[in-house]
Amino acid sequence: MSDFGAQKRKLILLCVVGILAVVAILRYTALAPEDTTSIRPTTRTAFNFLSDWTCTDPTCGGQETKVAATGPDTCPKCGKQTLWPSFRFAGSDGKEYRVWFNYDEKGKQREVKIGNEPWKPARDENGRTTILDPATGDPLIAAEQPRHAMSPEEEATMREYEAESQP
Ligand SMILES: [Zn+2]
Repeated sequence: MSDFGAQKRKLILLCVVGILAVVAILRYTALAPEDTTSIRPTTRTAFNFLSDWTCTDPTCGGQETKVAATGPDTCPKCGKQTLWPSFRFAGSDGKEYRVWFNYDEKGKQREVKIGNEPWKPARDENGRTTILDPATGDPLIAAEQPRHAMSPEEEATMREYEAESQP
């Protein structure tokens, strides 16, 4: 009798697992088409992402989170033109560095500033990235998740939608 009970439990468990699998597949297929339309790699640049605009004066600490763009901007704390888009990076030893970016109008990296080092071209003479660990010379790795920001088109669509849904 207890053997039968165990078999019954096993059968129920298998059914539950099966149902969960079907639900997972259905959810995946329902979400998949939406996902592919939101991924447009050719039109995405740094300007599609939020950045912590940070004051390059190490004694200031002024910061503002907004869409990445060409810098500089006025620091909200010291009032100087020292606010640039920045992201956190880490070396292979886990040590973190703030890396500032000077982008051109197309969102391409022009110059970078790593921690307390001076600004330098973002690429060396061979076209390789210069975002390297000041201590080891190894490439630094992004230490924060990309935060997608709405494009101007998406924002316009959102505003239109909001205006239309006003009573
Ligand atoms: Zn400042």
